[in-house]
Amino acid sequence: KAHTEAVEALNGRVNAYITVTSDKALEAAKKADSTLVAGEAPPLTGIPLGIKDLFCTNGVRTTAASKIIGNFVPPYESTVTAKLLENGAIFLGKTNLDEFAMGSGNLTSAFGSVENPWHRKDDASVLVPGGSSGGSAAAVAARMAMGATGTDTGGSIRQPAAYCGIVGLKPTYGRCSRWGTIAFASSLDQAGPMTRSVEDAAIMLSAMAGADPKDSTCATVAVPDYRAACGRSLKGLRVGIPAEYRAPGMSEEILAVWQKGVDMLREAGCEIVDVSLPHTKYGLATYYIIAPAECSSNLARYDGVRFGERAEGATSLDDLYEKTRHNGFGEEVRRRILMGTYVLSAGYYDAYYLKAQKVRTLIQRDFTQAFEKVDVLLTPTAPTAAFARDEKPEDPVQMYLNDIFTVPASMAGQPAMSVPVALDGKGLPLGLQLIGKHFDEETIIAVGSALE
Ligand code: GLN
Repeated sequence: KAHTEAVEALNGRVNAYITVTSDKALEAAKKADSTLVAGEAPPLTGIPLGIKDLFCTNGVRTTAASKIIGNFVPPYESTVTAKLLENGAIFLGKTNLDEFAMGSGNLTSAFGSVENPWHRKDDASVLVPGGSSGGSAAAVAARMAMGATGTDTGGSIRQPAAYCGIVGLKPTYGRCSRWGTIAFASSLDQAGPMTRSVEDAAIMLSAMAGADPKDSTCATVAVPDYRAACGRSLKGLRVGIPAEYRAPGMSEEILAVWQKGVDMLREAGCEIVDVSLPHTKYGLATYYIIAPAECSSNLARYDGVRFGERAEGATSLDDLYEKTRHNGFGEEVRRRILMGTYVLSAGYYDAYYLKAQKVRTLIQRDFTQAFEKVDVLLTPTAPTAAFARDEKPEDPVQMYLNDIFTVPASMAGQPAMSVPVALDGKGLPLGLQLIGKHFDEETIIAVGSALE
């Protein structure tokens, strides 16, 4: 009840939720009470969560923050949300995001922007919550949910977690099923938890993860009890500091929080090792070829015939597609579809898409080689703290630069987590990122719990 009241009181300003399901939540809470009394309660019994509006939820509108499917009510439940429900969780509603999860500031939603609950000291400017899972991050930070689901394609769990001072964990690619989650870039998309503590993230991830016959890319690797990794001894653990993440122009404050993380881990008994990930500088360019290419293919289905709100007054089939897609998609989504279509076109495919796939392999090898020397990597999550809504860069490429530290781990499928570690001089949260070996979320959870 406290959470439904918080949603009611704050959502008008924060706009973290696109759809609020308080009545359903309160009804589910009553049922949860009776399972607790009967002593049969699964681990998340009664825990109120926000669900990113990219996960299909049976009977509850699912929009991807896009006009084109603004009235879509799925007749099925995504695997991840079904698992959370089986574990007793209660859903407070569907959280806001950048349209189709494309963005870094929650500025492209067809349902309005999300406001970061944090403010700079003595400054009333509205700050962005990060993106694309900004609604989830803001809801958790503003106590409008105890935890939330996010999805991360190139940083969409980690960067908003850093901007809102919460924990965000992107599991290894294939750890959580993608079935029933609206696709952006299928070789990168991964669901994960966004919470107020590393321990909460661990508990939520154990509930969300696991094999799924409905998603052939979902791994059959056993899911550990992640909670047991919290507080584990870090003696002798090797922590890598990648030289290439010292990006030019990085602020003193980001460097200072990074150093603070190093000191904390050294104190905890870790060995700090300098490593190199030489292809990091190509990460962003490669990502912004591969992700749009996959998006242009995944979003082809929203044509007004198979899916999507059909435009009125079309005079031919081509005209119907054109009008539907022009009216239904926002500017950023259209930009990505055009970029993706271009890099996949005959004549350009080898020069862009194929080349990007080769560079992706080099980025993956960088991680494989680094993980021969270390157990985990420590880097900043984002190059800045949350920026003000009216400081939004006009040039989309400037916006893409936000993803510079999160994209490489996505390209290589590594698990990675952002943990809030310090406040900057203006009182805003800064996060550090831990990147782990494939399917070794336990180590990043163990190290993350030492950084809190
Ligand atoms: N900001 C990145 C993008 O715009 C990442 C988005 C994501 O991870 N979904 O593509």
